[in-house]
Amino acid sequence: MPTHISLVTPRAVSTVHWLLRWCLWPAALCVATVAAWRLHQQPERAMALQMATFLAAVLLAMLAERVVPLRRDWQQVPRAERRTDLTSMAVLMLLADPVVKRGLLPLVAAAGVPWFALQGAQAAFPVQWPLALQLLLAAVIAEGGQYAVHRAMHSVRWLWGLHGFHHNPTRIYWLNGFRAHPLNMIVHQLAGLGVLVAIGAPAPVIQMLILFSTVAAVFQHANADLRYDGWNWVFSTADLHRWHHAAGAQSCQANFGGLLTVWDHLFGTFRRGDVMPALVGVDAGAPRATGYVGALREAMRNALARPAARAD
Ligand SMILES: [Zn+2]
Ligand SMILES: [Zn+2]
Repeated sequence: MPTHISLVTPRAVSTVHWLLRWCLWPAALCVATVAAWRLHQQPERAMALQMATFLAAVLLAMLAERVVPLRRDWQQVPRAERRTDLTSMAVLMLLADPVVKRGLLPLVAAAGVPWFALQGAQAAFPVQWPLALQLLLAAVIAEGGQYAVHRAMHSVRWLWGLHGFHHNPTRIYWLNGFRAHPLNMIVHQLAGLGVLVAIGAPAPVIQMLILFSTVAAVFQHANADLRYDGWNWVFSTADLHRWHHAAGAQSCQANFGGLLTVWDHLFGTFRRGDVMPALVGVDAGAPRATGYVGALREAMRNALARPAARAD
């Protein structure tokens, strides 16, 4: 069994396929950019713009998976698995997300901003910078916190018990971006957005970052034969993220980035995406639990039982 598959498509493709493969990812970035600009003009519409961006990204990703699929054997997702993924997305959106944004982040702001002020660091975040630079800095800072947490989740036994649920599937498609233990998402969000809130990053900048992160989360798992090429050096694209899902304890210790690759470059965990792993998923081929609660329990049970081989 080969360990990887080439991503260079040997057969000739139609003009429509060629256009979709090259244009869908830039189009998704354009959607986030336009939404961010609208948010800048009308910050009171942040929620509506976030939902519209999410729906647009999902539609583009589903179009890509349908018209230019990467692996046809990944297109038929068993109903039980899809139900688990949809349940996970609902739990994240209806439970974990409000807990973070309405409960924990205001607490972090109440504690963090005065603390930084006491240290004489009211301007811990450079609010006087041009908006684009503020957004870039916010992305790098948030990614740093989330990179650290993500690596810890692959190293600490009980944290891997939470995170293993995300790595459980043996096929990757767009919904996998929302397959996460709710505690995984809460910790991950706090490590990124919480830091920004604590250092006084403006709410519109954080909301703009969420727009780009949402698009990245949808496309990072899409089973689509898109040409990321140069984008791979900056954005943590699906080409890179498939290696993060590779079967094998060592293979998946790469490409921990969510939106950007900057921290993977800095810490030597960047792995190029011009080939893809032949197998993805924890315990590929092993019997696995069906159902949302069963899969959550199985991930924790496996992590506690076998800490030395987190992804084999
Ligand atoms: Zn991971
Ligand atoms: Zn993933």
